[in-house]
Amino acid sequence: MTKTVFPPCQAPIIPVVGQDGFPVGRIFCVGRNYADHAAEMGHEVDREAPFYFTKSAHAILLSGQDMPYPPRTSDLHHEMELVVAIGETASNIPIDQAMSVVFGYGCGLDMTRRDLQAAAKEKRRPWDTGKDFDNSAIIAPLTPVADAGDIEHLAIRLSVNDEVRQISTLDKMVWSIPEIIADLSTLYTLHAGDLIMTGTPAGVGPVVQGDVLRGTIGDFAPLETRIV
Ligand code: MN
Repeated sequence: MTKTVFPPCQAPIIPVVGQDGFPVGRIFCVGRNYADHAAEMGHEVDREAPFYFTKSAHAILLSGQDMPYPPRTSDLHHEMELVVAIGETASNIPIDQAMSVVFGYGCGLDMTRRDLQAAAKEKRRPWDTGKDFDNSAIIAPLTPVADAGDIEHLAIRLSVNDEVRQISTLDKMVWSIPEIIADLSTLYTLHAGDLIMTGTPAGVGPVVQGDVLRGTIGDFAPLETRIV
């Protein structure tokens, strides 16, 4: 192995219920994938094509850990999302085969510096500083597909300090999981280790230091974090 001037950084590892851990490669995020959330952000949903942004694997925070309130924002928002974990390589995969590359599912939070995202949108600049920052991808333990059952109608919810802020069902997604995987695989070759955050329902809003966030999707391992 080639010697390096410092140790290469290790992929973050997400716990898997009943199995070894899942090492993360990339994180793809779907924008505006629930009509009610698109509406609260002032947009109409179209079925023309899904769109994406990315987060670095460095942005991962494991559920159960505290999230330090991030710098350069005064409007940190929660976005509760289903995470789809990819277990095999996929390129130009047809919709009817797309589910074969899914390893499992989990609860995720796409934490957002909404003020920085809004400023970037206004200036037609990239969203990176609003979306891809330290601890902004909070991920709970994954459930393998074989143990997940039929997930289409599962409830997705997020509470802050025991008050429900977001509640919906996965069948409200504008683009389904196989549609997202098939489309994404025309833009990138997907690999084992990639995560897809599949968008958030309505009810996003700010959190402050001391808030406790708890997210659930069906019976998947719940997500918990405290803002400190
Ligand atoms: Mn999101």
